[in-house]
Amino acid sequence: MKFISTRGIGATDKTQAMDSAAAIIRGLAPDGGLYVPEELPRVSADFVAQLAQVDYAERARRVLSLFLTDYTDEEITGCIDRAYSGKFDDEKIAPVKQVGDKSVLELWHGPTSAFKDMALQLLPQLLSTALKKTGEKNTVLILVATSGDTGKAALAGFADVDQTKICVFYPDGGVSDIQRLQMATQAGANVSVLAIKGNFDDAQTGVKKIFGDEAIAKELAEMGVHLSSANSINWGRLVPQIVYYFSAYADMVAAGTIKSGEAIDFTVPTGNFGNILAGFYARQMGLPVGKLVCASNSNNVLTDFIQTGYYDRKREFFKTISPSMDILVSSNLERLLYHLTGDANMVAGWMKELNDNGGYDAGENMLVRLSNYFWAGCADDAKTLETIKAVYDEYGYVLDTHTAVAWAVAEAYKAKTHSDRPMVIVSTASPYKFSSSVLEALGEKADGKDAFALLEALECKNPVKAPQGLAGLKGLPVLHKEVVEKDDMPKAVKTFAGK
Ligand SMILES: *Cc1c(COP(=O)(O)O)cnc(C)c1O
Repeated sequence: MKFISTRGIGATDKTQAMDSAAAIIRGLAPDGGLYVPEELPRVSADFVAQLAQVDYAERARRVLSLFLTDYTDEEITGCIDRAYSGKFDDEKIAPVKQVGDKSVLELWHGPTSAFKDMALQLLPQLLSTALKKTGEKNTVLILVATSGDTGKAALAGFADVDQTKICVFYPDGGVSDIQRLQMATQAGANVSVLAIKGNFDDAQTGVKKIFGDEAIAKELAEMGVHLSSANSINWGRLVPQIVYYFSAYADMVAAGTIKSGEAIDFTVPTGNFGNILAGFYARQMGLPVGKLVCASNSNNVLTDFIQTGYYDRKREFFKTISPSMDILVSSNLERLLYHLTGDANMVAGWMKELNDNGGYDAGENMLVRLSNYFWAGCADDAKTLETIKAVYDEYGYVLDTHTAVAWAVAEAYKAKTHSDRPMVIVSTASPYKFSSSVLEALGEKADGKDAFALLEALECKNPVKAPQGLAGLKGLPVLHKEVVEKDDMPKAVKTFAGK
């Protein structure tokens, strides 16, 4: 299987298409586009049915093998084993729970208690293996600017992975207590965690500047280091996510919730469009999926886009209680546009308009195509809190703020369309990661409590105990205390690269 850019490289001239290992090392295509598979593999009904008999690792192996055809079986198995075995607190890795008439796919049993682990445990392994396969001698230094979640998930995934180093910048005072502790206690010989004096934008701008600085690139190259990013545009972050759509389906067949071959819907709390896009891939490959319901918070750019065909980022940005969905430009949407049109020139044109004018009109045809696969809705903070309370009161199940957005939108979808297909809510974080908002929703006082008191207060309400990855932070030594000026970020990166 070869990979091509959504903006043209390899799409028009097939000789320029790349292997997956090369696409994973590169991340972004040289024309600014994103790598996509040249064509999507199709699987049989039997392939899907057979998955019910095997564990998550084997499901992952079967799905990944369809895309990573340049990796050997041993390489893929090794990557999956190092990513998932012993790292998750549920042996099913991504279990499906029945809550009322809905199935909840819990993607937060990994080391950082949020869904980013599903991909960020595997990406570093795929990357490290790609470096070995291609004979690349340089060390890859991953730079991350984080507002909280991604930083820790990337640290946990890259810690002590061969031929890689990772340096994470977060805004001093700009992340929650628990997020700061998660990062500051990260062990590993190849990790660096730095607080910067500034906000998240300063951190992100600083990282972008370093990426764009040729002098730094040259200095690092002399040390045998080259820079890369772990953000969700990398194909190696997307492919692991396809697996759990198949896995959920297989588990539901095994549990008798659905019959083999029956179509189901998924509702996905969406930010950068990576998670839901993986569901689209699963559907195109032959998984019986009806609609993919795209759920947004008050930053509802995608709701408008799917309903009107017009993408408009020129709008107010809201800071919500579901911060991982506070996004106005959903990068992975570009991949969907490519798959729905097959026209790299058209996609490149829209992306240029987005960049130059802040929006684009994808037109009537696109609107029709979108509506074949997607339905979209949004829920604001008040609705989110109300949903957490209602689901708790009725079922005793505690949703996190992101998953609650999905639940609310799934209800709206059902009321509007009267779909009678079984619904899977894709759950992206443990409620303990957002204890303060969740407690508020449940009518408890949260202010004034420190991170651990919040966990304990929520444990009094929730039959599910706090994940060890969060509760266990209490006893861990703080290893990273350094705070740097934002202008000193390049110096810090160079010093770390030379260690
Ligand atoms: C990243 C994240 C999302 C959004 O996922 P995308 O792939 O960016 O759409 C939703 N919920 C949580 C908890 C997340 O961390």
